[in-house]
Amino acid sequence: RVKTKWATTRAKFPATALALQNFDATYSKQLGDVWPSVRVGMLSEQKYGALMNTFASPDDAISDLHSRGCRDFINTFETATACTRISSNIQCLVFPRGDISRFKPARPGNNGLLGYYLLDAASVLPVLALDVQPGHTVLDLCAGPGGKTLAILQSQAVRFLWANDLAGSRTARLRRTLQSYLPKEILRIIHITSFDGRNWRNMDCTFDRVLVDVPCTTDRHSLMEEENNIFKRARTKERQKLPLLQTELLLAGIQATRPGGEVVYSTCSLSHLQNECVVEQAISVARREMGITLHVQDLGSFIQIFSGTFHFAPQTATGVLVLPHLCANFGPTYMCKLQRVS
Ligand code: SAM
Repeated sequence: RVKTKWATTRAKFPATALALQNFDATYSKQLGDVWPSVRVGMLSEQKYGALMNTFASPDDAISDLHSRGCRDFINTFETATACTRISSNIQCLVFPRGDISRFKPARPGNNGLLGYYLLDAASVLPVLALDVQPGHTVLDLCAGPGGKTLAILQSQAVRFLWANDLAGSRTARLRRTLQSYLPKEILRIIHITSFDGRNWRNMDCTFDRVLVDVPCTTDRHSLMEEENNIFKRARTKERQKLPLLQTELLLAGIQATRPGGEVVYSTCSLSHLQNECVVEQAISVARREMGITLHVQDLGSFIQIFSGTFHFAPQTATGVLVLPHLCANFGPTYMCKLQRVS
C-alpha cells in the first residue's frame, strides 16, 4: 500500500482563496444584499486616479488627460457650492463612471518632476477630510509608500510635515517618490522617520492635523495577490491582532494631535472590526485612560459631494465607506475624522 504523503502532495490553498472565504463569511453578514456586487468589483480590475503634481506645472498633462475624457473629481460644481471646505489645490483626474481606460505612466515635465501620481482615487478622500489649512503642521503616522503624503503636500498649505512608517523599506520608497515629485524647497519642510507609531506618546510634540492610515487586511490586494498576503496561514496571528494594532496606532495619533486639532483614521478594508469598532474603542480608551475628549466629525457631505464618482455605503455613526462597484471600481476606503477637544 502506498502511504499518502500529505505534506508534499496536498494542493496548497492559496491565501487569495482563504481571503475570499473569509470575506464571504463576514461581509455577506455585514453588507447583506450589497455584498455580491462589491465582491464582483473587488475581483475585477481596480480603477485609478491621476493625482496631479502642481509642483510640476502639469498643464500639458492635464490637457492631454482632458482630451482622453478625464475630469478632476475634486474641483467640481458640487464642491464649489458645498458648505464643507475642500482643498481646491488638490486635483485628481479620473475617467468617467463605467469607463475602464488606463492611464499612461507619468512623464517628467520641464523641471524634471513627474506630472502625476497614480493611485486609487478613493484614497485621496481621507486627505481631503484632513482639511489642511495654511500654516498647519501635519503628522502622517503610517506614511509608506507615500501616496497620501504626496496628496497632503499638494494642498500647498503645509508648514511642516512629519512622515513616519515602521518599515525602513517603505520610508526609503517614500523618500524616492517625494524626490521625483517635489522641488527642493518643499522637501526641506518634510521630516521622514522609521519608528513604531505606537511609541509616539514618548514624543513631545503635537500637530494640527494627524493622518493614521493603518495597516489592515488590504482587502483588494488580499483577493488578487499571493505576495505579501496577510491571509497566508503563517500570518493568522498577525491578522487577528490587526484591530489591536490599529487601535494602538489611532490612540498614538490622538495623543499626537493638539487640543483643537483633528485626526483622520483610514483603512482600505470593509471590515467593521477594523473600522468602526477600532474608532469606538479608541474614543472610549482615550476618554477613560488619557482624559482626552474627542468629537466625531460628520463626513456626510462627502457622500453628497462625491457620489457622482464613488459608490458609498450608507453613512454610519463614525465614518464613511467607499464600496467597490463595477461602474466606479475604487476602494474600499473607510475614513473617520475626530476632533480632539481636550
Ligand atoms: N499612507 C500610505 C499611503 O497612502 O501610501 C499607506 C499606508 S499602509 C496602508 C500602512 C503602513 O503602515 C505600511 O506602510 C506599514 O509599513 C505601516 N506600519 C505597520 N505597522 C506600523 C507601526 N507600528 N508604526 C508605523 N507604521 C506601521
